[in-house]
Amino acid sequence: MSDDSHTPGAEHGALPHFETLAVRTQTGVSTEREHSVPLYLTSSFRFDDAEHARALFAEEVPGNIYSRYSNPNTDEFVRKLCLMERGEEGIATASGMSAVFTAIAAHVSAGDHVLSARAIFGSTHQLFTRILPKWGVSSDYADVSDPDSWERLLRPNTKAIYIETPSNPGLELIDLEWLGALARSRGIPLIVDNCFATPYLQRPLEHGASAVIHSATKFMDGQGRALGGAIVGDRAFLADCRFFARHTGPAMSAFNAWLLSKSLETLAVRMDRHCSNALTLAQHFEGHEAVASVRYPFLPSHPQYALARRQMTQGGGIVTLDLKGGLEAGRRFLDRVRLVTHSANLGDTRTIVTHPASTTHSKLTVAERQAVAISDGLIRISVGLEHVNDVIADIEQALAGTP
Ligand SMILES: *Cc1c(COP(=O)(O)O)cnc(C)c1O
Repeated sequence: MSDDSHTPGAEHGALPHFETLAVRTQTGVSTEREHSVPLYLTSSFRFDDAEHARALFAEEVPGNIYSRYSNPNTDEFVRKLCLMERGEEGIATASGMSAVFTAIAAHVSAGDHVLSARAIFGSTHQLFTRILPKWGVSSDYADVSDPDSWERLLRPNTKAIYIETPSNPGLELIDLEWLGALARSRGIPLIVDNCFATPYLQRPLEHGASAVIHSATKFMDGQGRALGGAIVGDRAFLADCRFFARHTGPAMSAFNAWLLSKSLETLAVRMDRHCSNALTLAQHFEGHEAVASVRYPFLPSHPQYALARRQMTQGGGIVTLDLKGGLEAGRRFLDRVRLVTHSANLGDTRTIVTHPASTTHSKLTVAERQAVAISDGLIRISVGLEHVNDVIADIEQALAGTP
């Protein structure tokens, strides 16, 4: 982090508003006096003299050494995210999954245990069930609807509690205040994947989480261009992540950090529109003849509506429709959409639809899918920034062919 980098308002003690932090947190201006922060495409940085190099490596003075450790662009992205999430420290990684892996791997050894919820991102599930066991790290899934199951499954060797809320794609919520208090009382770090909410809608660190994970690929980039990830949280938690990342190399590229930091400048306005479009769309399709049910955290019919109102400021950009015709209706729907895109991403300006039962979650049994609130007719809609009436009209015409 460069010495003259600017955090607006820090000199007054109180932090300015979210939007101002997003726009005005910048890496220090170079001798060119640029207004928009330039791209620092350099693998390494020069040392003033032998003593400067020694002090930098000893971490006695701040400054950049090598872009696997830090770079002005990644530093700006991380510092901005720390201010947005109210985290003490952070690191940027090449993807959301490298952030998940770093956060876990930096804190477990052979014989340790991780407690999670079943409703987690597909690759995170593979990490817990197929990859960590290779190194002797076991995991259990607590039942979200049974709070006692968390206490029951905690063990003396549990080194992390890992959750996602709202979950992808089931939109299940976990009470952050309650789980944060439980984790703190046991001295176990709570790690929260905050990808669906973003810090604009929900700040898990304020509820007792030790770290927040992000796939910056989604709403942070917001335009479907770049992969990225981040971990932000407590200083002690991040110290282990930093050591692990520095020596294993999951670093975010300077180019992606430059792009993503500029994307964060518009996160608040984009999220406002994603959320209002998503709510309008969810309300429109509730009760539709081809739709068995609609799920959206800010619809009163969501089973955890009260919790959503308590811990999120808006419902987010993702809506799910459970089509009446099941698997076949889901497939027919995808083949009939014209405006919205059938693609595997989310959090884009363009509305994207996916059918988890025939794609991301096709390897699970029907019972396993049901356990994570994914029915065969479930369509996940990442509601974009087109005019919502055009999106609704396209989905209406696609549904006309089902069941
Ligand atoms: C996409 C996603 C990830 C993984 O992020 P990548 O950037 O694709 O590696 C993790 N968690 C959630 C909730 C996601 O949606």
